[in-house]
Amino acid sequence: MSFIITTPLYYVNDKPHLGSLYTTIICDAIARFKRLLGEDVIFITGVDEHGLKIQRTANEKGIEPMSHCDKISEIFNINWNNWDISFDKFIRTSSKNHELVVKEFFERVKGSNDIYMGVQKGWYCVGCEEFKDNPENSTTFKCPIHQKNLEWRNEENLFFRLSKYQEQIEKIIREPSFIEPIERRNEIINFVSRGLKDFSISRTNVSWGIPVPGNENHTFYVWFDALLGYVSAISSNETDQLLEKSINGGWPADIHLIGKDILRFHAVYWPAMLISAGMKVPKKVLGHGFLTREGQKMGKSLGNVLDPDILLSKYGNDSVRWYLIKDISLGNDGDFQDRRFVDTINNDLANTIGNLLNRTSSMSRKWFDNKVPNNEKTFNENILASFSMQIVESYMHNFNNYKLDLAANDVLNLAIKTNLYLNDNQPWVLIKDEANIPQVKEVIYNVLESTRIIGLLLLPILPELSSRIDSQLGNNYKKDLQWKDQIKWGSLEFNSELPKPSPIMNKLEYE
Ligand SMILES: [Zn+2]
Repeated sequence: MSFIITTPLYYVNDKPHLGSLYTTIICDAIARFKRLLGEDVIFITGVDEHGLKIQRTANEKGIEPMSHCDKISEIFNINWNNWDISFDKFIRTSSKNHELVVKEFFERVKGSNDIYMGVQKGWYCVGCEEFKDNPENSTTFKCPIHQKNLEWRNEENLFFRLSKYQEQIEKIIREPSFIEPIERRNEIINFVSRGLKDFSISRTNVSWGIPVPGNENHTFYVWFDALLGYVSAISSNETDQLLEKSINGGWPADIHLIGKDILRFHAVYWPAMLISAGMKVPKKVLGHGFLTREGQKMGKSLGNVLDPDILLSKYGNDSVRWYLIKDISLGNDGDFQDRRFVDTINNDLANTIGNLLNRTSSMSRKWFDNKVPNNEKTFNENILASFSMQIVESYMHNFNNYKLDLAANDVLNLAIKTNLYLNDNQPWVLIKDEANIPQVKEVIYNVLESTRIIGLLLLPILPELSSRIDSQLGNNYKKDLQWKDQIKWGSLEFNSELPKPSPIMNKLEYE
């Protein structure tokens, strides 16, 4: 059984922004965590390439839609590699394989008698690629999200019989584990209780899309096409029975992590489409919040957009990951504040975790011949060992429940407690009397051991910092041993060599 986790397939109208980086980092941390637990993980990301918006963007640039998509999808790929994102599949919806999946899926849905020809009238936002519910209530006929004029549509479209699935969808969305957080679940329950309407799945005025078999002047509606990217990501490169191959490949997804703005598509339309095609629905849809900057919405017109490339070169991977994971409670909105960012990184990573390791390994090198001291006391009789075991338990619970901020705080709390332990015991005072050497060994060993556990717990959250901690402790991670077994107290080997100390985390400066 595979654990399948997905980011949304990002729309290729522009390069990655902070929001897409945030979603992708959270998925990466969860994927790493599950792999460390020994699960077979398939982490899917990719790009959504069709639709009128892309067609128009390419036209404005005077290039073919495909060359526009090639360029932007390459930028996404490079970006995720720069951020060390451990994705397993990168799906492009312009791929031949995906087209075959969409067509096969369409045949199944048609076979369930869920497709009919109708007329779609209404106000359409090209930015959202969506009809707007109540244009008559809007005095300006502008999309509230894009602030752009809506376009009137009156055309023949193929429709999907969503209304047929009213009862089934109501049941699914009320399952407490299906939509998180609860505020999002309630929004969707309200939406569905107003009654589901059939939705159109084809367009006649869009050439940049997958042609509908049997209705060649239609292309599939971009959302109908894009959601299926999750399925085609785990199908094979063969040409037939692709849906069966996806099912054998592990479908359904365990978790779709998405921004709250695309929740309806994932939690209502998508499950109904899958049921119609005789496929299982995803196990969980987790809608995260929006990110603001200094309390303000980010936008090009405001000139306050945070560019992931600049963040990476200025602050590095660890700092940005730590802030996004620890400072924002997954599901809530988050705010990026420059001062708060610098303070958080300096306090948590440089001062609390970095200094702890640095000064302890320096003492150990100086007093014990560049080695980890051998501690003769039994392991369970110290306060740090029992505290670290509580922390590990809490961390596992939090991570398993996708409370990544709390899991990150658990690690930080272990570092704070370890610093207190060091200050309370004052080995630098004890060492002045030779009779105290067994006690000094015990204190230093315990602090180094606790730091080793901190490093291991950081592995899914901050893989780079984690590996620097490990190398400062003399490369103790054991590839042949399960992660969970390595987290047990007392695994740090006596008399193992310590390398020359070097800072594992530099302080950041205010702008
Ligand atoms: Zn819009």
